[in-house]
Amino acid sequence: MNDLQIDDIKTDENAAMVLLVDDQAMIGEAVRRGLANEENIDFHFCSDPQQAIAHAVRIKPTVILQDLVMPGLDGLSLVREYRNHPATKDIPIIVLSTKEDPLIKSAAFSAGANDYLVKLPDNIELVARIRYHSRSYMTLLQRDAAYRALRVSQQQLLDTNLVLQRLMNSDGLTGLSNRRHFDEYLELEWRRSLRDQSQLSLLMIDVDYFKSYNDSFGHVEGDEALRKVATAIRDASARPSDLPARYGGEEFALVLPNTSPVGARLVAEKLRQTVAALKIPHNTPGDGSSLTISIGLATMVPEAGSDCRLLISAADRGLYQAKNNGRNQVGIE
Ligand code: GH3
Ligand code: MG
Ligand code: MG
Repeated sequence: MNDLQIDDIKTDENAAMVLLVDDQAMIGEAVRRGLANEENIDFHFCSDPQQAIAHAVRIKPTVILQDLVMPGLDGLSLVREYRNHPATKDIPIIVLSTKEDPLIKSAAFSAGANDYLVKLPDNIELVARIRYHSRSYMTLLQRDAAYRALRVSQQQLLDTNLVLQRLMNSDGLTGLSNRRHFDEYLELEWRRSLRDQSQLSLLMIDVDYFKSYNDSFGHVEGDEALRKVATAIRDASARPSDLPARYGGEEFALVLPNTSPVGARLVAEKLRQTVAALKIPHNTPGDGSSLTISIGLATMVPEAGSDCRLLISAADRGLYQAKNNGRNQVGIE
């Protein structure tokens, strides 16, 4: 829409739309005749000052020629009214006065007029001034439209960057954070916990007997099951700082900053139960089984110079225990 406005204005930049507001029809006729042979100048005449604003709003002139002395309404008040109306506030106004009077001139300019001519001006001068003011008004409109378009495209760029950032950080299958983002985030939270000496918990989550699930039901069903598990993990992350991620394959992770072992265990146990309650049919370990997950849990307060891989290894050991002890359980390291 903004592009369209700019183009519209561009094609018309030499065109002028003149509105003359004067109570004397004779003046109207004289100016009309003077402009009749001018290419690209449209002329409108308004003899009723009370209608001037409405007329201007309707035809959108690029220049207003304004008579100063009219019955019923003072021309200077009208100039001020144009300036106060949002649709006319920037339109150039050439005041037409009956005499060359410094006091009137000064009043006209301080009311907001852009130019001052004594009636009836020489036609060459009138046309030159109309063209000059009209062109500068068109340039102003163009500049405003360009700024508006620029603001819109800047906003679009910001939106696109946000979408890109989200795509770059997320796993295609499940929509959780991907491994890359997980690594970054864990590193960041590890350093924050080191600074604050706060507890950082990590859950490593692995789907039980998933190879057999794929072998029995196919990869499409397998992917669907992974999505369901991912949703359960996402729902288990209650705080904005919790980060659910796909670690790789059928393994997931949940980063829980500022979380004690007791709190992390509650989250893990609830998640384990949620997945079991989905009752996704499985045939391993036995017929009539449901898909389950095993979870390894570790909590650390980082020491200076230590690496966040310590936490991953510890949670992995917890996971190994959970698998060894029969799966569908939380192993704590
Ligand atoms: P365990 O209970 O010991 O974890 O046994 P498991 O079969 O789950 O473990 P294993 O690591 O041997 O198998 C993981 C399987 O997960 C291998 C592969 O078939 C499956 N898998 C990994 N990534 C994907 C995926 O993106 N989609 C699907 N459908 N399957 C995947
Ligand atoms: Mg695995
Ligand atoms: Mg597995």
